[in-house]
Amino acid sequence: MPGKLVLIGAGPGDPKLLTLRAVEALREADVVLKDRLVPDAVLEEAGCEAEVVDVGKKPGGGGWTQEEINEKIVEEGSKGRTVARLKSGDPLVFGRGAEEIEVALEAGMEVEVVPGVTSAIGVPSSVGLPLTHRRYASSFAVATGHEDPSKPESRVDFKSLKEAADTLVVLMGAGRFKEIAEDVARASGEDTPVAVIERGTTEDERIKVGTVRDVLEGDLEADPPAIIVFGDVVGWWREVFGL
Ligand code: SAH
Repeated sequence: MPGKLVLIGAGPGDPKLLTLRAVEALREADVVLKDRLVPDAVLEEAGCEAEVVDVGKKPGGGGWTQEEINEKIVEEGSKGRTVARLKSGDPLVFGRGAEEIEVALEAGMEVEVVPGVTSAIGVPSSVGLPLTHRRYASSFAVATGHEDPSKPESRVDFKSLKEAADTLVVLMGAGRFKEIAEDVARASGEDTPVAVIERGTTEDERIKVGTVRDVLEGDLEADPPAIIVFGDVVGWWREVFGL
């Protein structure tokens, strides 16, 4: 009997943000394939006693390739084992969870997805920064700043996104912060407020604030992993929290 794949969202970092089902599934697993961004404290707090394999991909190469991870899932599944695939945030947001579901189903494995608190929403929320506000924002968009370089049309149109949505949240945007800010400036101007939250919900959390102009002038930078939020909600948040 082929085993089971459980794709688990670990949340943004703080182990207390795991769901009850995530904790239960981590205890039931035979082997855990863990991403680099998931802190070890998550496994400790969940009381996970399974074998843990760190299959983290390193920025700029090194570590496991997606193909190797896919093979490992199928190999463990063929032994009838329950494989927990532990990913940061929600397992289906900007991870390659969809591919992992496909390979597991093709191998005849059972598949379960345990949603997690995505950093896109959870990290701003954890510091009191709302993506929507009755007065300032009735929509938000979430995009990646780092696209698959092998895609032919490898460019998110941040200008159009910011025109369409009141709040723009960018993940994996640290490396292209200036380019993204240029696009946002063309949509909503250089005075658009910006928040950068690095390593949200962890002990190393860092919050930086400013405007698009600060980014363009090199006075506001982002170190990964970071969530970048553009929009008037950031202005409201700075005012009420005195930031
Ligand atoms: N599936 C994840 C996203 C994976 S992509 C989710 O739903 O959150 C990895 C990116 O997520 C990072 O580059 C960063 O932009 C963001 N991220 C994840 N955890 C974060 C954290 N604790 N603080 C800030 N950004 C985080």
